Amino acid sequence: MRTLVVDHPLVTHKLTALRDSASDTATFRSLTAELVTLLAYEATREIRVQPVSVTTPVGVARGVKLARPVPLIVPVLRAGIGMLEGMIRLLPMADVGFVGLRRDEESLIAETYADRLPTDLTDRDTFVLDPMLATGGTLATVISMLVTRGAASVTAICLLAAPEGLRHVEQAFAGDGDPGVRVVTVTAAVDERLNERGYIVPGLGDAGDRLFGKI
Ligand code: URA
Repeated sequence: MRTLVVDHPLVTHKLTALRDSASDTATFRSLTAELVTLLAYEATREIRVQPVSVTTPVGVARGVKLARPVPLIVPVLRAGIGMLEGMIRLLPMADVGFVGLRRDEESLIAETYADRLPTDLTDRDTFVLDPMLATGGTLATVISMLVTRGAASVTAICLLAAPEGLRHVEQAFAGDGDPGVRVVTVTAAVDERLNERGYIVPGLGDAGDRLFGKI
């Protein structure tokens, strides 16, 4: 697995405002969308394309279009839904599947409660949206689900990552766990650590609550 930390002043500027506990829900939502679009630009760098020619008013230009089947975007419920708008802005033709995992607050182990994914992902580039890569349990489970169904690549887009979570996912897909497909994590920053409740420090708090409220 590869990890790409997008080191760009605009990304850091938006992430800093996102972290600020004074940012209200409306601001948090629009910053999330903008940040995801910037991360998605890097995350799609190796997306599959096929050559095409188009006729301009002046001649014929060679170019590319996205290969078929169209990419699949997978927001992880609930907080990943807040990242969908920013991703679809860049890939309006993509299909969208959904996965829901619930984290046991004691054991911090993730359990699947929703799976709305195509059964066959052969030749598909897939993009997982999960704002916080904390313990890595959720992300490792979702990557396995996509790899098992034959995805050509899995790229996770996370606003923030903890070193513990990155290590977990790297270990899950190293050696015998190597899925033989391209697995990449793209994030705006890798923070210090997880605290005893599994929150990223300094992080930005509970991404789901900040996007959708404490319900
Ligand atoms: N999930 C969150 O929303 N925030 C964290 O810091 C960790 C997991």
